[in-house]
Amino acid sequence: MIPFLDLNEINNPYLGAIEEASLRVLRSGWYILGEELLAFEKSFAEYCEAKNCVGVANGLDAIGLILRAYDFPEGCEIIVPANTYIASVLPVSYLNLVPVLVEPDPATMLIDPYKIEECITPLTRAIICVDLYGRSCEMDVIMDIAVRYHLKVITDAAQAHGSFYKNKKTGSIAHATAFSFYPTKNLGALGDAGAVTTSDAELAEKIEYLRNYGSKEKYKNDYKGVNSRLDEIQAAILNVKLPFLDRDNKKRREIARRYLTEIKLRNLVLPPADHIDEDAWHLFVVRHTERVSLIQHLDKAGVQTNVHYPLPVHKQKAYGNLNYLELPITEKIHDQVLSLPLNPVLTDSEVSYIINVVNKFE
Ligand SMILES: *Cc1c(COP(=O)(O)O)cnc(C)c1O
Repeated sequence: MIPFLDLNEINNPYLGAIEEASLRVLRSGWYILGEELLAFEKSFAEYCEAKNCVGVANGLDAIGLILRAYDFPEGCEIIVPANTYIASVLPVSYLNLVPVLVEPDPATMLIDPYKIEECITPLTRAIICVDLYGRSCEMDVIMDIAVRYHLKVITDAAQAHGSFYKNKKTGSIAHATAFSFYPTKNLGALGDAGAVTTSDAELAEKIEYLRNYGSKEKYKNDYKGVNSRLDEIQAAILNVKLPFLDRDNKKRREIARRYLTEIKLRNLVLPPADHIDEDAWHLFVVRHTERVSLIQHLDKAGVQTNVHYPLPVHKQKAYGNLNYLELPITEKIHDQVLSLPLNPVLTDSEVSYIINVVNKFE
């Protein structure tokens, strides 16, 4: 069986280094907000070509803390893509802001930059763009809209560590970028972790307060903050793995290139092949009108797939107030997508096998 993602295989090469790093933290007697975190924040900011990086507890909080730091009044509107994981939208709701869902470009499945402007009202304060599957959004168009309407741009890059937009690193383009280091991401911890990158030093400092009860000096609280810290053990593990992120992304790009050139199944919609070396290829998402049979066909041949995602945010029970919305492009995508295995531990022969099995469908 070829598993969709085998985390044991992913982390095995780092076993010794992770043990050493974890023991170092254990023996230091300092477990929260210490040297490992500072070192990681410095390296990840450098990696993203951003001036600042603030470690937080997870990707969801990274988005939420950016929104909190901007302090938008309740009831303001935040533009979000309709095709995304629910974690991109939830932090908007937590703060009593209003998510305004925008349909994707059917080719990229990312927020359609040309549909943003028609959704802007006097209440709009920010655009959350999600670099879904590892591909960067159309940032030139989005940043231009932001300038004209005085909006903040927040990128959810939970799936896009190490991707580029026109030679610029993701994490250096939007006003603030949120990352997750959930174990399955391109850079994964062995538990929960996240970060914000930004070149706005004031915003970064405010998030440093907010993640720690609004405090940077013990028992002195300047804001009503939360507890959302990236702990020393996870930071130490991320310090071990970060130097290998580019190597892993290179492997992902090689596999994506093979899929894009060698998969020949008629009626299978492949992702666009115009940015192979810019994308982080977190997921390889294809579309087929007979998704259920294709998944069964692959499963029978021992190829495990996944669906990202089966039910759009506006059709979830949690968003009952949005269930009335009709977003046909988003809904069609959710009915047709499936993700083929794509990760840095897949071997050449496994990739060949997967391509062969896909091409033999029907
Ligand atoms: C994983 C993910 C998140 C949430 O990250 P957590 O660390 O699990 O909170 C947010 N947005 C997207 C697009 C994701 O893939």
